Amino acid sequence: MSYTTLWAYTWDLTYESTADTIAYLKQDVGLDALSVATSYHTYEMLCPHRSGPKFVWAPEAAVYFQPTLSHYENTPIKPNVSPTARVNDPLREIGNACVANGMGLTSWTVCLHNSYLASAYPQHAQVNAFGDVLPHAPCPSSPAVREYMTALLIDLTTNYPVTAIEVETLNFNGYSQGHYHEKIGLPIGALESFLFSLCFCDHCSDRAGTANIDAQRVRSSVAEYLDKFCLDGTPSEQSIEDHVAGNEELAEYVRMRAETVASLTRMVKGAVTVPVYYLLMGNYFGSGMDHHEISRIVDRVEILAYSPDTDQVRESIRQTCNQGIAPENIHAGFGAYYPASPDEETLIATTEAALDEGVSGFSYYNYGIMPRQNLQWVKSAVKAVNGA
Ligand SMILES: [Zn+2]
Repeated sequence: MSYTTLWAYTWDLTYESTADTIAYLKQDVGLDALSVATSYHTYEMLCPHRSGPKFVWAPEAAVYFQPTLSHYENTPIKPNVSPTARVNDPLREIGNACVANGMGLTSWTVCLHNSYLASAYPQHAQVNAFGDVLPHAPCPSSPAVREYMTALLIDLTTNYPVTAIEVETLNFNGYSQGHYHEKIGLPIGALESFLFSLCFCDHCSDRAGTANIDAQRVRSSVAEYLDKFCLDGTPSEQSIEDHVAGNEELAEYVRMRAETVASLTRMVKGAVTVPVYYLLMGNYFGSGMDHHEISRIVDRVEILAYSPDTDQVRESIRQTCNQGIAPENIHAGFGAYYPASPDEETLIATTEAALDEGVSGFSYYNYGIMPRQNLQWVKSAVKAVNGA
C-alpha cells in the first residue's frame, strides 16, 4: 500500500487551530501521515499562510519537543530545546491531533547537521586535515554523538505517538553548509571538496586505529595535497573515484567512514520499534553513505525527486534501484511548488511517473512554505497515488 505524507514544521501546524489544520490535512487533502521536524537546523523562512508578519527565524539548531533528560544520561550532549517548545509542547499537540484523526506522525529528524551541537561540543565535531573544527557538523564517529542520536530517537518514540522515524544527515557532512557568507577565492573542484570534508577528529582516528589504518598518514597526505591546491589554486581534473583508487590507505579510510555510518544506522534502527526511513542526501565518498548497505538496515530509503521533468524523476528512481534497492523500498520526495512544480499538472505528472516506477511512498514539501492554494495540488497528487 502506498504511503503519502507532507513535510511540515511545528510552528506552522500550530499557527492556527492545530486540531482543525490536521483534520483538514487528513480528511480533505487525504494524506496518510505528517512528517514533522522534531530536530532542525537554523533557518529563515517565509511563511505565506500567515496574516501580518510572514518571516520566522531560528538562529540555533534545536529540537521542537520537550525531551526527557533521563534518556541522555549516557552522553554529555544534551538537546537544545527551541524557545517555541519550552513552555508549550507543540509536538504533543500535533501528536494528539494526529491520533484523533487516524493520521501517522513521522518524526522528520535532522541529525548531524547541527551548528548548535557542533559549536557547543567541539570535541565531538568533525575536524578537517588541517585541524579546523567544522562548526555545523557533529561527527558520527563520536561515541557521545552516537549515544545522543540513539537517545533522541528513543525519547521521541517513547514519549510521543510517533509512528515512523525519518532520519536526515545521519552521516558525515561536507566542509561547508552555506551557514555563513562564505569568502572563497579558489575554484574548489569535486576532489578538493571531498578532501576538505574528510574528518580526522580523535574519534575517527580511534576508529581508523581499530581498523589498522594509520589515520595520521592519511591526514598528512590529504593536507599535503590541499596545501598544494591552496598554493596554485588549480583544481584537479581527476575524479574522486580515481584518486581514492590510487591510494589504498585512503580507500581503507573511506571504507571505515562507510562502516561508521552503517553501524550508527544499525544502532538507531535497533533502538526503536517503529519503521525507520533514511534520506539519501549525499554520496558514498563525501557523506560515508553506502546506499545499498543502508537500504538493508532501514525500512525504506528516501530520495528527493524535486524536478518538473518526469524523465528526471524516473531516472533518479532508477539510479537508486541500480544500487540494488527495490523500488518498493523507496520513498520519493516532491517539491509541491515552484520550481519543481510550477503548476498542478506537473506535480501530478511527476507523482504518476514515480508511481509507475513502483515506489511505495510519496512525500510532499512543505506545508508552511508552499502557497496555500498548492495544498489543492497536493490533494490531487494524493488522489493520483490512491487511484481515485
Ligand atoms: Zn570524526
